[in-house]
Amino acid sequence: MTATRLGGAEPAAIVRAEVTERAAWLRAAGRPPLLAIVTATDDDASAWYVRSIATAAGKAGIDCDVVDLGSAATAAEIGGRLTELSADAAVTGLMLQTPLPPRVALADVAAAIDPDKDVDGANPLSLGRLAAGLPAFAPATAAAVVALLDHHGIELAGRHAVVVGRSTVVGKPLAHLLLDRDATVTVCHSRTADLAAVTSTADVLVAAAGRTRLIGPDHVRPGAVVVDVGTNPTADGGLAGDVDPAVEGVAAALSPVPGGVGPVTTALLLQNVVRPMLD
Ligand code: NAD
Repeated sequence: MTATRLGGAEPAAIVRAEVTERAAWLRAAGRPPLLAIVTATDDDASAWYVRSIATAAGKAGIDCDVVDLGSAATAAEIGGRLTELSADAAVTGLMLQTPLPPRVALADVAAAIDPDKDVDGANPLSLGRLAAGLPAFAPATAAAVVALLDHHGIELAGRHAVVVGRSTVVGKPLAHLLLDRDATVTVCHSRTADLAAVTSTADVLVAAAGRTRLIGPDHVRPGAVVVDVGTNPTADGGLAGDVDPAVEGVAAALSPVPGGVGPVTTALLLQNVVRPMLD
């Protein structure tokens, strides 16, 4: 068996076209969309990601301000700037890029992001609202997994979805989104006793651990759908996922890295900038 490729370029292009149209409409209505991104890191991968968001925003007609506070920024400085930007009427979407400086906890500073502008679902209130089934912005990566599956016509209701990873950025919000779609959800993590025993019961397996090749053929039930969220830098400057390419011989469908969840994530982030939460 060779797995069908669950590519992200096509769904991302569809979302971007919608976003571009909506951004033009907002601009014409005198409400130009503006995404502010606060960063406080020297991390190269992070700088690359922020540049790619800014470029994609520009192409879609969304203004983008990157506020770089430097890797020595304190929690008070980061929180203070997020509070200011939250209060700025011109800012329609606000995002805090990770990693943060050591000793700065995401939950502490992200609480300063106005939930109505929290386009990457970083404020703990957003996660709580999501868990409670209330309108909220979901973290774009978690939302991208579901959007990718929907685009490719993968059924979720009644199926066993296993998520590997329990971070507040990906694993936990994704578990809630999958529950909302009537999947039966299991979440695995670094302390899961026998990972393969659990993952091999999945109809839909999502790998979001940030460990290169963590998921091999023995972790996958023949015919399962596998989504790779991992983006692990390789020695040659490329990106590797969490899923061993040999899984292609076992799974029915597999999303690639790069070219799967990544492009959809950026497109959904921009969609959140032009779409008020309570639309
Ligand atoms: P994280 O480090 O915060 O969390 C990793 C999770 O994986 C933890 O819950 C941990 O318990 C679990 N884990 C680690 N080792 C494991 C193991 N051996 N077995 C089982 N579980 C294990 O990372 P994150 O921010 O959730 O990101 C996860 C991955 O997704 C990373 O590779 C990250 O780069 C990638 N990511 C991709 C996108 C995208 O748009 N494609 C966006 C965000 C994150």
